[in-house]
Amino acid sequence: MPFACCKTNKTGETMVFDNITTILGKVAPIMNLSEQEKAQLVKFHSIQRADLKVGTKKYPAFRIIHNNALGPGKGGIRFHPNVSEDEVRSLSFWMSMKNSLAGLPFGGGKGGVIVDPKILNQKELQELSRQYVRAFHNFIGQDKDIPAPDVYTNPQIMAWMLDEFEKIKGHHELGFITGKPVELGGTALRGDSTSKGGFIMFNELIKKEKLNKKTLTIAVQGFGNAGWYKAKYLHDNKFKVVAVSDSQGGIYNKKGLHIINVKDAKDKGKSVQDYAQGEHITNTELLELDVDILVLAALENQITKKNADRIKAKYIIELANGPINPEADAILHQKKIVVLPDILANSGGVIGSYFEWANNRAGNIFELQHLIRLFDERMKETFDKVWLAFEEDKRKHDIRTLAYIIAIKRILIAEKLRGRV
Ligand code: NAD
Repeated sequence: MPFACCKTNKTGETMVFDNITTILGKVAPIMNLSEQEKAQLVKFHSIQRADLKVGTKKYPAFRIIHNNALGPGKGGIRFHPNVSEDEVRSLSFWMSMKNSLAGLPFGGGKGGVIVDPKILNQKELQELSRQYVRAFHNFIGQDKDIPAPDVYTNPQIMAWMLDEFEKIKGHHELGFITGKPVELGGTALRGDSTSKGGFIMFNELIKKEKLNKKTLTIAVQGFGNAGWYKAKYLHDNKFKVVAVSDSQGGIYNKKGLHIINVKDAKDKGKSVQDYAQGEHITNTELLELDVDILVLAALENQITKKNADRIKAKYIIELANGPINPEADAILHQKKIVVLPDILANSGGVIGSYFEWANNRAGNIFELQHLIRLFDERMKETFDKVWLAFEEDKRKHDIRTLAYIIAIKRILIAEKLRGRV
């Protein structure tokens, strides 16, 4: 049976989930998956939809759990004008893979609202966040499905959602949501854990590939939570970041950018392009720069068959979810470009969330340093198991394929033990 659960939409544009079914189609024969196992992997546990009303406007919203064999759903909530059900399904699937790969006791969940949060004032944003919880409170909770921040959502939004949830339920439940402010049970670890985890993986990659830190050049696409913190880690550790970008465009300086000053310029203005000491480039140009390492930290489908041939970086780190589509993956692999895939490279976000959730449930007993130690260990273990598979495979398959195999194996064991397949 082909993986054909959600094909191209009516307007003919590519659906993100098609990328997933393509990857599964590649992995299935390698793993010798049965028809029943294949069907189980594209089955969704729960798909919830609602219209959120703020003032006179309606905003379609989703909360989706892909697989829950390993535990409750876990994954962020995205506020973005281009969110779609297809995108949220895909993101929830990736969360199942990521959580399984990292050995976490979670399934995959994700949420989204079709909204441009930049045009809402704080009162409207708070109302929207509370409405989200009012719409979906029966489907979320510390043992059901645990939300977190994603694109254009942040700790303040998590705090409003926590408050609304506890008001409805009539009890405290800090573990219902992660990425909270520290004062409300969040952990200082979580804020930049995606980038910190990405940086740990980056260092492991440099060690394995024996790369020379002093001469490496790096470009980072996206300058939000994931991209900015990643660029900051690189800058603080004396790596040379020559280009960064946001939705308005990018800047390039072959001598290296002063990332802290770039952030200041963006905060005072609108974009990284407000930083004076860099040449303006487009996002397309950034992707095609002659650098050693390209970090993708914006949105899906940034590298496709249209531009894969023009990519010059030798290594790509996917902090964003799904920034390279399968056709491009094949081209990059042929060109021997090593890609650390999203379900591995950005797993720091959910691993940080896991320790926040576990700590909440233990009565916030663990100190930050203890959580950081556990976090660092888990990141390295996750990297090592995937890298070992890559070496044992003699680099025949790309790292994404091997990471999916490891993740799917663990999910299917849980499915079998539960008697579902
Ligand atoms: P964010 O909203 O904080 O930042 C997004 C950034 O991307 C912004 O700088 C925006 O200007 C930029 N951007 C938007 N469109 C762009 C375009 N076309 N070209 C270049 N830049 C563009 O979001 P985030 O939390 O940093 O998430 C970014 C990616 O990382 C997403 O794919 C998200 O799912 C993934 N991710 C984030 C986390 C996390 O903890 N924040 C965890 C795992 C994965």
